[in-house]
Amino acid sequence: MTLHIETPLIPSRALSLISGKSILLKVDALQPTGSFKIRGIGLACETYAAQGARRFVSSSGGNAGLAVAYAGRRLGIPVTVVVPETTSEKVKQLLRAEDAEIITHGSTWQEANATALSLIGPTDAFVHPFDDPLLWQGHASIIDEIARSGHQPDAIILTVGGGGLLSGVAEGLQKNKWSHIPILAVETEGAASYRKAMEVGRPVPLAEIRSLASSLGAKQVCEKAVAWSKEHPVRSVLVSDQSAFMACERFLADHRLLVEPACGAGLAVVYEHAEALHDFDQVLVIVCGGVTTTLDDIRETLTGLSCR
Ligand SMILES: *Cc1c(COP(=O)(O)O)cnc(C)c1O
Repeated sequence: MTLHIETPLIPSRALSLISGKSILLKVDALQPTGSFKIRGIGLACETYAAQGARRFVSSSGGNAGLAVAYAGRRLGIPVTVVVPETTSEKVKQLLRAEDAEIITHGSTWQEANATALSLIGPTDAFVHPFDDPLLWQGHASIIDEIARSGHQPDAIILTVGGGGLLSGVAEGLQKNKWSHIPILAVETEGAASYRKAMEVGRPVPLAEIRSLASSLGAKQVCEKAVAWSKEHPVRSVLVSDQSAFMACERFLADHRLLVEPACGAGLAVVYEHAEALHDFDQVLVIVCGGVTTTLDDIRETLTGLSCR
């Protein structure tokens, strides 16, 4: 048994017609927590539980915190999530629905994270949102499922926040002897911490995040993601916030699924930057999902962005 499910792999006629490529979608928006994060976090939580953890602690007011809360409820282990004051009521509601204890502390994620770390006792497990080998191992199951399906893509599009998804996908590609298949690593321009790390050759912190795609807003990526860029073909692609938000609206119309702009950024490459797909025929998009944005948020933001 795993806490994640095997998700559908579907050809997208709409996106194929727009881009002139064969586009396949791996729909991880359909995971029970609404994002891919339960793959890695589920495996990490199961492992920590088997090692005797009596409580899980997270500092993510996003899809990672929600995956920890879900894993804890399923495994019968209490969960504490420390979130900053900026966390929306919608996210708190989702966390409460998974029976998590919520502690609101500090004005930034850094402050909430420091509080979370200070709470860790000897029988608690801190669950990191992207920097943990167990997470990468769990995320690699995406590629296992694609390989079993019999489809072999020429390239894989995914988005990068802290680089956990990329590290897991690269691990899965190596494991399935697909080390030649390139990864298109997409970020929004205001959250390009992976682009910067690839340029410098090591993780470096951004001075600030200037993107509204909040799930991509890690100031610094994990070392493993940078190491992969030296061992596996990875191309960095940047899109604007406006493209990421517009892609969410278009994807809702085309596939009747609402995803976060953090996922829309990857779809925006197909909708608006098909030139980045020039070398490929069959392109697989990891539809990573995300549950923290409403359609009203997306429309209001688009109105605001086009007025600037
Ligand atoms: C976490 C997340 C990402 C980024 O994943 P990382 O492992 O942090 O790189 C992208 N999209 C969504 C919806 C997420 O929740």
